[in-house]
Amino acid sequence: MNTPESAIPSRAPSATPTDDSVMPFEVAKLDLRGRVVRLGPAVDQILESHAYPPPVAKLLGEAVVLTVMLGSALKINGRFILQTQTGGPVRMLVVDFTAPGKVRACARFDKQRVVQAIAAGEASAGALLGHGHLAMTIDQGPDMSRYQGLVALEGGSLEDAAHEYFRRSEQIPTRVRIAVAEELLQAKGGASHRWRAGGIMLQFLPKAPERARLADFDPGDAPEGMQPHTVEEDDAWVEGRSLVSTVEDIELIDPALSSERLVYRLFHEPGVRVFRSSDVRAECSCSRETVEAMLKSFSQDDRDHMVEDGKISVTCEFCSANYTFAPDEVGAKSS
Ligand SMILES: [Zn+2]
Repeated sequence: MNTPESAIPSRAPSATPTDDSVMPFEVAKLDLRGRVVRLGPAVDQILESHAYPPPVAKLLGEAVVLTVMLGSALKINGRFILQTQTGGPVRMLVVDFTAPGKVRACARFDKQRVVQAIAAGEASAGALLGHGHLAMTIDQGPDMSRYQGLVALEGGSLEDAAHEYFRRSEQIPTRVRIAVAEELLQAKGGASHRWRAGGIMLQFLPKAPERARLADFDPGDAPEGMQPHTVEEDDAWVEGRSLVSTVEDIELIDPALSSERLVYRLFHEPGVRVFRSSDVRAECSCSRETVEAMLKSFSQDDRDHMVEDGKISVTCEFCSANYTFAPDEVGAKSS
C-alpha cells in the first residue's frame, strides 16, 4: 500500500475505557501488530459462576485472556479451544471461544493439592499447572478439518507457553502480557470484589521475512562445549519488545485506563494506529436440547445408571446450569 501516512485520519486517544473488548493496533514504523484485551463483567461472570479457589480462578482468568487474544485474531467462523493437560494440582483448563466473541471456561483440579499448594505459598500459575501440554484447536464445523497446535508446559506460565508456541510453530516474534486480579469494592453489606483481566499481544511482522529471525532459540541437544549461535534481533523488534515489557499489571486491568490510552502510552513516539474493537461476552453454548442429545447418545446401561431419585440431573461444567430430565424423556429405565 502506498497510502501516504498523512491520509490516515489521526486523533487523540479515547479516554473512555471499554470493558469486554479486543482492540487491534498497528505500529507501522516498527512493523508491529498487536491487540489489547480488556475483560470486566465477562471474566467476572465466568469466574464467579465456578467459585474456584482464588489462585485457580486467577489461572483460569489468564487462560481466558489468552484464548480471547488468540481466538479473536483468527477471523474464523467457528470455535477456538485452548486446553491444558498437566500433572500439577490444576490438571485441566478448558477455554472455548466461539467467533466473533462468545467465551466460556472451566477448570478441573485436585482440591487437596490446591489447598496444599496455597498453604505452601506455591500457587503460581507454573506451580499449579506443572508439566504437560497446552493444545489449541480450531474447529470450523463437521465438514472442515480441525487444526491443532501443541506446546509443552514445563512449569512455566501461560505467557511462557504462548511465547514458545509462536517461536516454534509460527516463527513469529511475539510477546504476550496477561494480568488478572480481584478488584475490591465498597458495598453496603461490607466489601465485595469482582474479577478483572487484561492482556496485550505484540507481534513483529516485517515484509522481509529474514528480519523476523529470533535470537533466543534454545540450543537444545547441541554438543557440550559448542558455542550457541547468536543472532542479532532486528532493532524494530528489540524496541517493540522492550516497550511492551514495561507494561505493568495494573495498566492491563485498570478500569480507568482505556485500551487506546494504553497503546498511546507505549507507542506514541513511533506512532500507533488502532482498529475497530470487537466485543466479548461470557456465554455458554449448552442448552436443554444439546444435553438431551448427549444423554441419548449414551448406552442404555449408562443412562439407567444416571437415574437418581427418579430423575437424571446434568450440570454444565462450563456455566453450572442444571438440566433435569424424567428417565423416559431420554429413554432410561426409572427403577
Ligand atoms: Zn453451559
